Formats: sequence, structure tokens, C-alpha cells
Amino acid sequence: MAILKRLKGTLAKGSSLPPKENVASVAKRIALPPKFAPDSFTVLDRPSPCMVCGLNTVRFKSDYPSNVKPFSEQEVLYCTNCGSGQVPGSAQLLQGYYEQDYASSNRKDREIEPEVYFSEDYRNKSRALKRYFGRASRQLSVLRKYGSPVTRMLDFGSGPGYGLFLSGAKEKFAFEPDEKSIKYLDHIKAKRFSAIGELRPASFDAIIASHAIEHLVPEALIATLAILINSLTRDGVMLIEVPQGGHSYLHLNARQDPHTLFFTPQGLSLAVELAGGEIMLQRTYGKQSVPLRKNPIYAPPDHPFFKEDRGGLTVVCRRRRN
Ligand SMILES: [Zn+2]
Repeated sequence: MAILKRLKGTLAKGSSLPPKENVASVAKRIALPPKFAPDSFTVLDRPSPCMVCGLNTVRFKSDYPSNVKPFSEQEVLYCTNCGSGQVPGSAQLLQGYYEQDYASSNRKDREIEPEVYFSEDYRNKSRALKRYFGRASRQLSVLRKYGSPVTRMLDFGSGPGYGLFLSGAKEKFAFEPDEKSIKYLDHIKAKRFSAIGELRPASFDAIIASHAIEHLVPEALIATLAILINSLTRDGVMLIEVPQGGHSYLHLNARQDPHTLFFTPQGLSLAVELAGGEIMLQRTYGKQSVPLRKNPIYAPPDHPFFKEDRGGLTVVCRRRRN
């Protein structure tokens, strides 16, 4: 509505509109900038449990950092121990979203036939695809560096399966709710799981969860991570990558919807440990720093990874041995 009012105002004033502009082009020109950060934080009456680190230290809430519905209508709760954000009531919010809505609104490339999609020619022509394949290739080399043979690989939140395709793994497994990804996963002969409970212990020597766990229902985070970690073999390694989600101490400047968890580096590390993981690597791959908040609601402890102000948070772990 704000846009409409501004638009009517602009037109009524008869201000110096170039002759070819119409209502639509003016609307586009004066449209509100996209929102990537919360407007303000409010203190809660009493603390509640954090779904990321497990302590009873959720003490703030904010508006959701996006103008896109239905996410813009949500609130985000923040933990002062790990700095992470979490959206309450996500189970209802996400019902059916990833099965149907996600691919059509976020991934407009799923009409292409698999043979073309995975061809080198097509990959080189698409900037987005080049980026996805580049990221998957980097993640696979990290897994190998930390000792994974990458022979039985699970991609949790695989999308069409860039990582599995590049892995050369003898047995490929995918967890992906998006129905439009099925034909690609079938094409690369990946076995699909439809429920996390189907994963058996000690099954995979490589797991990638790339830009996936920030989409989980917060209440299911630790249980899901615990099942993933438990499904690693003795020499199995898991790589988790999430976007920087530290609204509590940074002014983030990238798209945030449809995320339901906003991880700080500390939050991601604590969640992995709480779920039974032993951390082998913590690092970021983003090139650009994000500005620090003047009035943060969380102060990262003095640890090089926890104080990171860049994106692409990566944690590599194995099953804790004891
Ligand atoms: Zn926490």
C-alpha cells in the first residue's frame, strides 16, 4: 500500500515524468528496496529455549528480514548465547512450500531436460549453474581433504543433484522435497529418501548439506543433525554450509527468505556438537565483509570463526568417537 500511495502522490503532483513513463514503470522505479535485515529488536518478557544451542537464552525478537509474504509476516527470535535467529511456528508456515512453491518461485530452470541440464555446454552458458557446480566441486574437494573416500554419498537438500553428479560416487543418495528435482535425480541414478527416519546408521562416507539446514523447522534441527551424523560411517565426513545468519551482530545484505534459521558461526558449531559431531574444520568462503551492528544483541566470543563477518559458513565434522 505504501508504494501505491507514493505512486499516486507522484502522479498527482504531475511531477516531471518523462513522456513515456506509465504507472507500471513509475511503480518499478520507486519500488521499495528489498529488505535484508530486521528493522528493530525487542526484549522478551522471559527467556525461552534456543533450538540451535539448547540453552534457555532466547531473549529478543524482531520483524522478519524480508518484504516477501508469507515470511514478512513472521517474527524471528534470537538467542543471546549463540546469536542465532529462529522462526517460531515454521512447521505450519512451510507446509507444502518446498514440495511445490519453492522451485517455481526460486528455481526457474527446472523445465530443461536432464541430458541438457548436466551437459558441460549448458553449464558453461548459465552463470547460476556455473556457480552451483563450482560450489559443489569445492565442497567435494574439502570432503576428500578430510579423509572421505566419497563412495557412498548423501546430498541432503540436493536440488537436482549438482554435488552427486560431480562426485563420481559409486552410490548416490538424495534427500530433496522439491518434486521438480526428481527427474534430474533419477537421471543421475540417485536413490531418493523422503523422510529423515529412513536413513540408517553408518551408511554414508560423505554427506553434503549445502544451503539446506537453514530451511529446517527449528524444533527439528538438532534431531535432524543427529540422524545425519549418526548415518556417517567411521571414516565418513559431513560438510555443512549455510549462509551467514548473524542478524544479531551484523547488518546482512543478501536475501533472507525463506530461511527459518539464521545461524551465526558459533550457533552452527554448537548445533553440530550438540548433535554428536566432532568438528574438523570451521571457515567461511565469502569474499565480502558485512558491516557490524552499532547496537548488537549478541557478542561473539573471542574465536576467529565465531567473530567472522562474512558469508558461506562451513563446518566439516565426523561422528564423535568415544
Ligand atoms: Zn542459542
